[in-house]
Amino acid sequence: METALTWIDQHSEALIRLADTIWEYAEVGLREHKSSAAQIKFLEEEGFTVTTGVGGMPTAFVASYGQGKPIIGFLGEFDALPGLSQKRVPVRDPVKEGAPGHGCGHNLLGTAALGAAVAIRKEMEATGLVGTVRYYGCPAEETLVGKVFMAREGVFNDLDAALTWHPMHLNSVWMSQSLAMNSVRFVFHGQAAHAAAQPHMGISALDAVELMNIGVNFLREHVIPDARIHYVITRGGGEPNVVPPVAEVWYYVRAPRRTQVDEIYARVLKIAEGAALMTGARLEVNFQVGCYDFLANPVVSQLMVDSLKRVGPPKFTEEEKAFARQIEESFAPGQKETVMRGMSAPKETWDLTLHQDVADIFDAGKILPGSTDVGDVSWITATGQITTATYVIGTASHSWQVAAAAGTGIGQRSMLVAARGLAATACELFTKPEVLAQAREAFLKDTAGKPYVSPLPPDLKPPLEQLAEH
Ligand SMILES: [Zn+2]
Ligand SMILES: [Zn+2]
Repeated sequence: METALTWIDQHSEALIRLADTIWEYAEVGLREHKSSAAQIKFLEEEGFTVTTGVGGMPTAFVASYGQGKPIIGFLGEFDALPGLSQKRVPVRDPVKEGAPGHGCGHNLLGTAALGAAVAIRKEMEATGLVGTVRYYGCPAEETLVGKVFMAREGVFNDLDAALTWHPMHLNSVWMSQSLAMNSVRFVFHGQAAHAAAQPHMGISALDAVELMNIGVNFLREHVIPDARIHYVITRGGGEPNVVPPVAEVWYYVRAPRRTQVDEIYARVLKIAEGAALMTGARLEVNFQVGCYDFLANPVVSQLMVDSLKRVGPPKFTEEEKAFARQIEESFAPGQKETVMRGMSAPKETWDLTLHQDVADIFDAGKILPGSTDVGDVSWITATGQITTATYVIGTASHSWQVAAAAGTGIGQRSMLVAARGLAATACELFTKPEVLAQAREAFLKDTAGKPYVSPLPPDLKPPLEQLAEH
């Protein structure tokens, strides 16, 4: 483990430079060409073999080093969010108005995971550690695309464990379950007609949309309370004087478990078919994306907390603390409590500005509303997620405050802690087969031995063209 951790310490500047470069690129999902290339260059220079274009996505790649079992994979992300461009200052000030920014800190996420992978490669070289280390360059997490399409291609299937992390308020692990989800657009095709002169000759696609929504709103009474179904009408017709020939409604169906989404979605689909039948409109179903809930592996998660304690939490400078206090001034009244309560954080952390300890597991068995494509990997292999304090306690996710901290010492310092924590966890898994076996046992128990089935239709392609339209 010493070699791996020393490598990270000695290369902290190179890692910070890479994270900063990606922070500046701030490319949104499936357009992360420069960010992906920067990571590939770094990995190739360190002797990794890289396969690009994974899952039909030009910015997705798998980098591999070593051979044979065990195979440990690090998951990295690098996509930015639209509209969150932000300078490295503690007040709202975009680099470019309306441009994307790293409001989820994925510039740090990908870099720390990559750093851990390279550190393990050095450990292998120095100590004769046997096995394979992989780094997965996963694009478009924010739109729940990258890992789901990569998973459908089977690239995670032979992993013994997947390790990742997420920028956060606290140094700990993330065990909360995220929601499984389907995102689907329902298009109804009718027949245009003069709405006053010949309404009897028209078929209103909008009627079909409205009837579908009524059906689904009645369905709400008969689904589990934790399910979330939301929709927007994206096309409703042109003018009242023309019977709408085309109308579209876009649905998200979410629930704590994938099987629950499957059940509810089957009923929503029947309702859509019913609406088509009632109006005579033709139904077109455009499946966008779907993902699994996040299943944290308890063995890997505990190992991650122990590893974080071993490598130690970040220690911020006076300058960083002052920056953090200024960020805090931008919060709405009561925000810290609302945010920290929402993530089930230990109460003693709510009033802090920056977290400088390691918190024990606090969110096992909780549900965090929202979805992540790490969920899909977590149903394929034993998966754990570290969190480190890359932003100020009480910061809202997907905000300029996250982006600002991710471009400064606060984010960078905690990114290096994440890299060290991930590398330490992997060293344990490589050298202690009994721990890996326990993780596997817990995984089989939690999944009841059921194999992962992709939520995507087999012929669905990644939404590359769709992006070009926006
Ligand atoms: Zn995000
Ligand atoms: Zn994120």
